[in-house]
Amino acid sequence: MDQRLSPHFDTIIIGAGLAGLTCAALLAKAGLRVAVLEKNSRLGGYAVSYAIKGHRFDIAVQAIGGCDTDGVISRLFKELGHENRIRFLPCEPARVYYFGNDSHPWEQSGLTPKLIDSLSARFPEYHSAITRCYETWSGILRELEEIAQRGSDGVAFGFSRSYPMLSRYSAYTVKEFFDQLAIPEALRSLMTSRSGYCMLPTERLSLVGFACTEMTYGKGAWMVEGGIEKIPGLLAKSVYESGGMIMRRARMVRIYTKDGAVDGVETIKGDQLSSNCVVIASSLKSGLFLDRPQMIPDRFTRRVALMEPSGSYYIAYYSIPEPAARGLHHNMEFTGLKIKHPLAFSTDAFYMLVPSLIDPSAAPPGRHCLCLSLPCPAGYSLAKDERNACRMFLEESVIDRFPMLKGKMQFFFDLGPRQLETISGNPGGSAYGWVQTPEQSGIRRLGMKTPISGLYLTGHWTMPGGGIAGVITSGRLCARMILKDY
Ligand SMILES: Cc1cc2nc3c(=O)[nH]c(=O)nc-3n(C[C@H](O)[C@H](O)[C@H](O)COP(=O)(O)OP(=O)(O)OC[C@H]3O[C@@H](n4cnc5c(N)ncnc54)[C@H](O)[C@@H]3O)c2cc1C
Repeated sequence: MDQRLSPHFDTIIIGAGLAGLTCAALLAKAGLRVAVLEKNSRLGGYAVSYAIKGHRFDIAVQAIGGCDTDGVISRLFKELGHENRIRFLPCEPARVYYFGNDSHPWEQSGLTPKLIDSLSARFPEYHSAITRCYETWSGILRELEEIAQRGSDGVAFGFSRSYPMLSRYSAYTVKEFFDQLAIPEALRSLMTSRSGYCMLPTERLSLVGFACTEMTYGKGAWMVEGGIEKIPGLLAKSVYESGGMIMRRARMVRIYTKDGAVDGVETIKGDQLSSNCVVIASSLKSGLFLDRPQMIPDRFTRRVALMEPSGSYYIAYYSIPEPAARGLHHNMEFTGLKIKHPLAFSTDAFYMLVPSLIDPSAAPPGRHCLCLSLPCPAGYSLAKDERNACRMFLEESVIDRFPMLKGKMQFFFDLGPRQLETISGNPGGSAYGWVQTPEQSGIRRLGMKTPISGLYLTGHWTMPGGGIAGVITSGRLCARMILKDY
């Protein structure tokens, strides 16, 4: 491309999801000339809300980690000078689990020390094993954060000495880890209850991926007062205040290269922007969009082709009257159901959220928002009758458990993998990028540097992994890497 004809930027970021906006805000604050290209008119990717008749539904939030004082999200807003513009609402207990017909639900604390106490109270003879598990998981997360900050500098030799947990456990599944410790099934099912967020059974779930999820919520589970869109809104404000640019309805269709390095991008409208640094903060599964695809080493192409995306969701949204919400928790998970699950998937769990119990501004007076969600395979294009079957299954299952909801659930709308794909561009509506198997987690996940000079990745298709705290960490690490290389 001819640089004289196009505006030049220090960095161009493709996708205004939370990872792309985090990276853009930090680079712009550091003085780089930044442009963000977003295919939609709204910013935030999955972090969007829909408003209907006074109700507000956050699409991609059951709970967020990293909002405690030292957490990755709080630190980001402090650094950007927005800490007084956003409030995080603690959700305690983090989630309540209903197993089959057991009438005593498991109330899971969002604080690790409290969680260890309650597990130890139920299984006193396993207290030291429980403590050891949490120590191992926090050690894994600590090492991963350290390696992500240092990069591979100086660790090629002596990796096992510097990162003993990662070198020992990178190939482990969660099941293998628990088998080794001979933890009984009843305790195991409580300790692995957050594996639902990873959408994999424990025999396929990476111990490293699970440890990151578990420990991300170890200092609390939170919601954003006023809705998740506050996060992308404030990040965009930072980009603008530092002189950066955000182009909406500007789908990137081509990445140009010159002399073996990145040279610029083109949007669907034919705009050409030049830069020697491009960050893909969107799906990688749909391709790198390079003008010379032959530049991509076969090994990289083959690896991406073999990688497996995470599952997706079917979600139905309702309004319920205030009296029908009495006795409900804001975040509930159900497993071992007597009603037959309509989809063949590796988990039979489903989720029920009443976010207005935590943030009353999410619903009009006298009403509550209710979201029911069912994990399903990514790319599963739910036909109309399958979508109806999912909705019936969810409604019958919750009414079976909470009869006061009968006749009280006012249906608003629903979404499936296809709609999630339209919102984010994530193929098949994958909710968390690459699924967290041992082959795709931790140090084995796709790195943030691509084999093309000047082309970086951020977001849930790269390190450290999916989820809001994970992709904000990814945006921060990518910004740091670019500043170092710059
Ligand atoms: C139903 C659901 C529930 C979830 N629940 C939770 C939860 O409770 N807690 C949690 O932490 N996480 C949750 N997640 C996961 C979390 O939302 C995601 O991991 C995270 O938001 C992904 O952020 P991202 O920035 O990597 O990508 P995305 O949000 O996917 O953003 C990518 C952006 O790139 C844009 N884009 C794509 N292609 C192009 C292109 N060619 N040109 C320009 N722009 C492009 C898209 O429009 C989008 O704005 C959930 C996800 C889903 C779907």
